[in-house]
This record gives sequence, structure tokens and C-alpha cells, in this order.
Amino acid sequence: MPMKSIEEILNDDVKLPSLPSIALRIIEAVKTDEASLSEMAKIVSSDPALAARVLKISNSSFYSLPQKVDSIQKALTILGTEALKNIALSFVIVKMMQSDNGEGFNYEVFWKRAVTSAVAADLISNAIKQKSDDIFITALLQDIGIVVLYLCMSDEYLKVFDEKRVSAASVVEAEKKIFGFDHPEVSTRVLEKWGLPETIFMPIQYHHKSKNIPENVENKARILWLADRMSSVYHGARCAEKMKDINRTLGRTYGFSEEDINQLIDEVAGKSVEILSYFEIDAGNMKPYSQLLLEANEELGKLNVSYEQLILELKRSKETAENLAMELKTANEKLRDLATKDGLTGIFNHRYFQEALDREISRTIRYQKPLSLILLDIDHFKKVNDTYGHPVGDAVIKVISAIMQKTVRESDLVARYGGEEFAAILPETDLKGAAILAERVRRAVEAIDIPANEQVIKATISLGVTTYNLAAGSDGKAALIAAADKGLYHSKESGRNKLSIVNMAV
Ligand code: GH3
Ligand code: MG
Ligand code: MG
Repeated sequence: MPMKSIEEILNDDVKLPSLPSIALRIIEAVKTDEASLSEMAKIVSSDPALAARVLKISNSSFYSLPQKVDSIQKALTILGTEALKNIALSFVIVKMMQSDNGEGFNYEVFWKRAVTSAVAADLISNAIKQKSDDIFITALLQDIGIVVLYLCMSDEYLKVFDEKRVSAASVVEAEKKIFGFDHPEVSTRVLEKWGLPETIFMPIQYHHKSKNIPENVENKARILWLADRMSSVYHGARCAEKMKDINRTLGRTYGFSEEDINQLIDEVAGKSVEILSYFEIDAGNMKPYSQLLLEANEELGKLNVSYEQLILELKRSKETAENLAMELKTANEKLRDLATKDGLTGIFNHRYFQEALDREISRTIRYQKPLSLILLDIDHFKKVNDTYGHPVGDAVIKVISAIMQKTVRESDLVARYGGEEFAAILPETDLKGAAILAERVRRAVEAIDIPANEQVIKATISLGVTTYNLAAGSDGKAALIAAADKGLYHSKESGRNKLSIVNMAV
């Protein structure tokens, strides 16, 4: 579709709708003879649907007339030709441009906004004591340029919406970018062409402007702008932002209190619902702003409750997770203990002893530091079992393992090597140090009284002590154990309750 100039749009007799004859007749009647009430009544009455609407609105809270208006003649007498003309034209034009043929343009929404804007303009002008008969229709038609542009250049106009979405530009900015002119200008020119008076089309030209507004239209232009904002509060996005604009202007320029403003905005909703019904436009779920706020706050309240709940649940699940992690940790520790520790004594088991010894031998070789090993075996332990029973034997095993653990350093490792045999791995300990430790353990065992069935018994141990021979390299483990074992065997052979030192063979 080729881009058109504003003149081409205005002269496009195919696309640009012309006013229905009834509208033209109404305009003409007012122009030629303002006093001709009967002529006006005749014209409006010629369209029964229009007449019915005019009567409805005349009797609405919009005018709050003290008496019932039951004829167009009466409406004319009470409201005047000017008011009636505007009411009639509003109905005619909205009806004419309601044809829903556009896929990308929602006429229903457009007119809903426009009617709300018209209601708002009427209420604002009343509140600032500048009410005029034509402010309603002026506000109603202020954006008609948008419909006209859409009708004449649908595809291009849809680009305006796209542009608005992507660049966050205002409608006017987007229109200027795409067409080189904007809808207030088109509105103005179209209404002028249709023969509507200057008092209507002039303020429209400035309704999106804030500068260089002729003095005589300034107030009306400002009312239009305010009305547009108010309509947006109900039908547009970012209503808080619009509320701010409204509050600022009404407060600063017209000295409205916040309460006045809120009341006015609420009134816009109530009146709009009523007026929209006369236009047969679905008002949808239009509620007073204060109620919307209230409901929003309730929703927010609910959100807060659920937010708190969410936090609580998060906390709980975090606690559960922490507990689970703790349980897992304990379970893992137990598992590891089961794999590495001896059930009776709680010291390391044989398997772990072998692993630990491998590690320590590697370290010894890497750092060229001494490493000693003690192997010990309880003397005549069979007899303990035989005399006092197996449980007493167990108790003796426990006591001796405890003595060993207590005697060695923290860096040393004590393990149950076999039934009643124990081992102590002593890193960074030379043969002399190991012998001293072995002797200390031997004496401690010898000294202790072990409870056994209401009496105490004594136990002794035999020990073999050796030190790693670094000349053996990394594979001297078997030789190390063999040397300690040899020492232990020697202690047994030579009378028990003693220690023997054996050098590790290479
Ligand atoms: P020696 O002085 O020559 O070492 O004599 P001993 O009786 O200690 O010799 P031996 O090695 O023949 O006996 C070890 C006994 O220790 C055999 C076994 O029944 C007992 N024993 C091994 N493990 C346990 C245990 O966990 N609990 C108890 N109560 N007895 C055990
Ligand atoms: Mg023994
Ligand atoms: Mg033994």
C-alpha cells in the first residue's frame, strides 16, 4: 500500500468514511437556524434507534435532570440544540465507525477508550467549572484520526503498533516516524472536513502537545489530555504512571485535593459503564479505580501470605535437606567406620591397617623420614577365655586397645591386627622412640586391673618392634611386618611380657 499524504487521505473518497446524511442534516440544521428546535427534533426522530439512544442518555445520571425526558422535543427544550446535536453526532459517528473489519484493529476497544475519555472530559470540565456542551464529543473524537489512518493505510498503521511496542515510543512519535504526521492532525482535518465546528477540531490538534498551544484552546486541550490519561487508567497499561500525571496536573493546575481526584476518577468508571451501554459497547469489567486498588491490595495481601508460606516452606525444606544431609553424613560415617573400624574395640581394622601402612611407607620414602611398627599379642589369652569366659576375653581386648590408643600420639595409628593381636604404626618415629613407646604400653597393660566377674585379673602382652629400612625402597612392607612379627615371636619365645627389637631385612 503506497504511503499517502494527509491531503490524499482526506480526498480518498473510497476509504475515508463520509458522514451519514442524518449527521450532515443535524450539522446543517444547527448551522442555519439555531433556534429551530422542531427541525432538529424531526431529524433526530427520523432515526428511531438514534432517538431512543438520545432519550436514554437524556434521562441518564449523566445529566441528572430533575424531570423525566420522554420526547426528543422535551430533550431539546431542556438540553438545548447544541447539546442534542453533540449527543446525536456522537452516536452517529461511533456507529458509523464501528464496523469490525480490521484484523489488527479492535474498534470495540478503541470506542470503549474514546467513550471513557469523553465521560472523563465531561466530568473534568464540570469539576473545573468550564463545562461546555461539546467537550464530550470533542474528547470522543479526539483520536478518530487513528481509525481514519487505519482505514486508509491498515498495514502501515499496524506498523505504528509494532514501533510502539519495540521502541517504547508514544503513538504520536511512532506515527510521525512512519507517516510524517500524527493522528491529532488527522482527527482535526477530518472533523473539519466533516463540517464540525472549530471549537471541536481545534483543541484536538493540540491534545498531545504541551507547548505552543494557542491560548483559546489551551484549557480544552489540557482537558482532552487529562481525559485521555484517565481513560488509560482504565483501559491502558502502566496506570500508576498515568495516575501520577493526572494528580500532578489536577493538583497543581486546578488545586484539586487527592480525595477530589480519586472521587473524580471513580466517577469516570461508573458513568462510563452507563454511557457505554447507550453506545451498545461492552464495558467489560470496568470498576472504579479505588475498587481496583482495593482488589489489587487484597491480591497483594494474598501474595504476601503465600510469599510468607513460601519462605516457611523453603525454610522447612532447607531444614529437611540439612537434616537429610546430616543423616547422610552420619550414615556415611557409619558406613566408613564399618569398612575401616573394628566392631569390638572401635579402633581400625586389619584392612585399614594395611591401607594405612601403604600410605605411610610412601610418605616415609618421599620424605625420607623414619617409620616404626609395633606388633603385639596378648599372652596366654586362650586361658583367659577358658577361665573367665569369652565376654571377659572381649573386655580384656577392649582394655588393651584403649591403653594402646591412650599411649600413642595423635599421628600414630592403632589397629586390631587379628583376634588378640594389635598393631601400631608410628610415623616419624625411629626404633628407639618406638621401643620406648612399646615399653610404655607393655607396662601400662601389666599395671592395669581388669574387672572379670566380680574380681580383677591381670594381662600381659608380648611385643615386636621394628623400623622401616629406607634401603628397601617402596616395597618393603612385607619385610617390615615380618620383622615386627619376628620380634613378637621372639618375645613369646623368651618368656612373654616383653618386647623385642628386630631390624628389618632388605
Ligand atoms: P600366647 O601367649 O602364645 O599368645 O597364647 P594365646 O593363648 O594368646 O595364644 P593363641 O593365639 O593360641 O590364642 C588366641 C586366642 O584368642 C584364640 C581365640 O579364641 C582368642 N580370641 C581371638 N579373638 C578373640 C576375640 O575377639 N574375643 C575373645 N574373647 N577371644 C578371642
Ligand atoms: Mg596370644
Ligand atoms: Mg595370637
